[in-house]
Amino acid sequence: MNRVRYFGLGLFLVGFLVWIGTLSLGRYQLSESVLDAALKPEHREVLGQQLNFMLGREYTSNRAFVADLRGAIETLNAGYKAQQQWDKVIYDNYVYPITQGASLGLQPGSVTLWFWLSLGMMILGALVYHSSRLNRLPGIHNNDLYRHPATDRGWIGILVGTFLIGFYIVLYFYPEYLTNWVLLVEPVSRLVNGKEPSQWFFYGFLYTVAILVMGIRMLIRYRGNPYQQVRTVSVMFFQTAFAFLIPEIMVRLNQPYQDLKNIWPLDYSFFFDYRIEEKIQSGSFGIFMLVWGIALAFIAVPVLTYFLGKRWYCSWVCGCGGLAETLGDPYRHLSDKRLVAWKIERWLVHGVLVFVVVMTLLVLYTYFTGQSTVLGFLDSYGVRQTYAFLIGSIFAGVVGTGFYPLMGNRVWCRFGCPLAAYLGLVQRFKSRFRITTNGGQCISCGNCSAYCEMGIDVRWYAQRGQDVVRSSCVGCGICSAVCPRGVLNLELGPVESRRVK
Ligand code: SF4
Ligand code: SF4
Repeated sequence: MNRVRYFGLGLFLVGFLVWIGTLSLGRYQLSESVLDAALKPEHREVLGQQLNFMLGREYTSNRAFVADLRGAIETLNAGYKAQQQWDKVIYDNYVYPITQGASLGLQPGSVTLWFWLSLGMMILGALVYHSSRLNRLPGIHNNDLYRHPATDRGWIGILVGTFLIGFYIVLYFYPEYLTNWVLLVEPVSRLVNGKEPSQWFFYGFLYTVAILVMGIRMLIRYRGNPYQQVRTVSVMFFQTAFAFLIPEIMVRLNQPYQDLKNIWPLDYSFFFDYRIEEKIQSGSFGIFMLVWGIALAFIAVPVLTYFLGKRWYCSWVCGCGGLAETLGDPYRHLSDKRLVAWKIERWLVHGVLVFVVVMTLLVLYTYFTGQSTVLGFLDSYGVRQTYAFLIGSIFAGVVGTGFYPLMGNRVWCRFGCPLAAYLGLVQRFKSRFRITTNGGQCISCGNCSAYCEMGIDVRWYAQRGQDVVRSSCVGCGICSAVCPRGVLNLELGPVESRRVK
């Protein structure tokens, strides 16, 4: 490792430690106004009395504040349950909004100072670290890939995976412990949408920064490959503009929040009653967003996939794909190439697709009829909650990203994404896209299979001179980029001319 690389790594690690440290720098004080803003009217009086002992008291520890708050709510609920007053039990999660509202800021110093000492330094460190690659030849270097503790499920990879899994669990289920991190991005939030940040704004910011910084790494790494360059710029653009800035600006303009490139069924709540109502009530622009979303799902997906393959979305537009292709790039070779993994993949990903279709039909049935129970036993609200928990949070978030260093960068896209399954069906049976192979030139080095993030044994096809026509192929083009013999080409042509056996 050269000095620049060491310097960048040092900066990143110092920033990371400061970032962790900021979790303990907050002060909290509960006030009547915080309760007014956070509680529903029906809970205001009873919870206000229960939390009376916290009013005006200054806490210097996030955990102490959350423990008192949660304890008070649980005590109240335990009393109701003991008296079998089930209708009074409070199920709303008030812990996060009250903790966030009671936050007095980071001490000592300002939020901006701590932002630059933590996230700012991490970003700078990562950029310096990756810039050191400019001294090396472009392209993938196999050196130590399967021996390095960071990229071969070694101790660094396990530590990173554990951190990511823990981060997602806390973000989804215990965000009250992250209020200081949310506070760090307040200046950005004020600038973009004019409001205080939520945990989802913080997450969106972090997600976008990860794609941008690691996207620069991809641009440096593949600087001799125009396909990879343009594709990387594309995911950086769509994440920054479509997923992060435009939805927040729409909120600022009092329009519904909508990521205009997120497509049903990946955007599984698109047809939920409250989202349809929100759009209808916000006038012509809301109606446009509704029509746009339906057109994307039912016209753009089949038409564009027919002409271009699923890569137009999975490798050029999608946010999950964008993160996988940038932050997840160092782990792409960890995807399981075994036949059993392919079998599990097909059952699982198509199972999720069936699940989301059934859930959406139930939700629409409830929307149009007002009845939440179908066939006497299926509760559409229960089904949507189950999907949101199991697939939306656990699979897409905790497993999908947390397992990058353990199972590769496309765990979610390969095993869980219902949109990938839908795009894949079109690609497999009716698309002009294929990867052609010049079998006579193949030296069986296995680079292509090793680096296929979707676990496709590309070499198997190359050795037989057969086109790679697989529903799971996201057209990332890395197999072609790493082939030393120019055997593999991403091509378009008549559907019938694909060499599939
Ligand atoms: S077969 Fe090639 S283009 Fe398709 S996903 Fe694998 S590496 Fe990417
Ligand atoms: S990378 Fe190229 S030469 Fe090596 S196995 Fe794959 S197709 Fe053959």
